[in-house]
Amino acid sequence: MKIDYSEDDRQIYERELKDFLPSRIFDAHVHLFDGTCLLPGKGFPPKSCLQKFGGTFSMEQCLEWAKSLLPDQEFHLNSFGHPTLESDLDSSATYSGGISDNERFFGMALVSPHDTAESVIRRIEENRLVGYKPYLNFVDWKKPGEITIHDMLPAEQMDYANEKNLAVTLHIPRLERLSDPVNQKQMVELCRNYPGAKIIFAHIGRAYYLSNVIGFLDGIAACPNAYIETAMVNHEGVLEHTFKTFPRDRILFGSDAPIAFMRGKSVEINNQYAYLMGEDYEIGNSIYDANSKVKFTFFFYEQLRGIKLAAKRAGLSDDDVSNIFFNNSNRLFKKIARHNYGKKG
Ligand SMILES: [Zn+2]
Repeated sequence: MKIDYSEDDRQIYERELKDFLPSRIFDAHVHLFDGTCLLPGKGFPPKSCLQKFGGTFSMEQCLEWAKSLLPDQEFHLNSFGHPTLESDLDSSATYSGGISDNERFFGMALVSPHDTAESVIRRIEENRLVGYKPYLNFVDWKKPGEITIHDMLPAEQMDYANEKNLAVTLHIPRLERLSDPVNQKQMVELCRNYPGAKIIFAHIGRAYYLSNVIGFLDGIAACPNAYIETAMVNHEGVLEHTFKTFPRDRILFGSDAPIAFMRGKSVEINNQYAYLMGEDYEIGNSIYDANSKVKFTFFFYEQLRGIKLAAKRAGLSDDDVSNIFFNNSNRLFKKIARHNYGKKG
């Protein structure tokens, strides 16, 4: 579909965001893929959020959206494909490599625990990627609630990430998310066992409500190779706690585009959360406002609003804000690319 950017959205940007945002934004969590990345005959169900974007979300589509939502900023990104069973993991890595220049655009491979180390190495090195992203869906021998971090990341894959200083973007498993005791233990073990790897905990460990985050970042905060990324977190309390307790040079802005380009907001409800949706698509535990009771803007803008409010409450300096939005990611991903593939040109 065409980009549904409205006059109301533009006013949010002008009034609330423009003066707060730095001139360059690095989005460390973007899903980019085209038709070549999907297995033959595979598509997405009618309520999949990807239908909004025509069933793919390519680099070209993403840059068009970024131009609408961030008209004054230079947009940089780290991308990976769509981590589901519809995707061909080799083709997705080829696509991620093809759109990446290791200057402004960086890419990661999708990996399954069933992949041999050799196939992961080939996927990364042939496409000059900066790391990889495992996903829960690929752990197909356990019930979703019983999957552990170590199931998602076999030792032979992690040995390679450790040796090459690669980044691993991890969406942690289990119902209790960041506060889960098995996760708490294994998150720290992963960082300590593979000190050369850069472990990026996506979505602030999926802590979308306050009681899930308070006290639970301390273990990984003490690990110098642990990073957190903010994708889909718009909760200003969660963000404030993160900014106050986690080393600010290891916090990365991420959006989770294209999901972030839908209209909705994540809200805390009774020590849980739900995605309130302004559009009739299903993501996670979404609740759709079928009678249009409220006007929504994009999750992306709600995330920026949350960061702005949290930055104020946590007393972030302009430099802190620029680092979180740009410098931390730019430094991290460039360093990995230089280390493995040398200087471009
Ligand atoms: Zn994601």
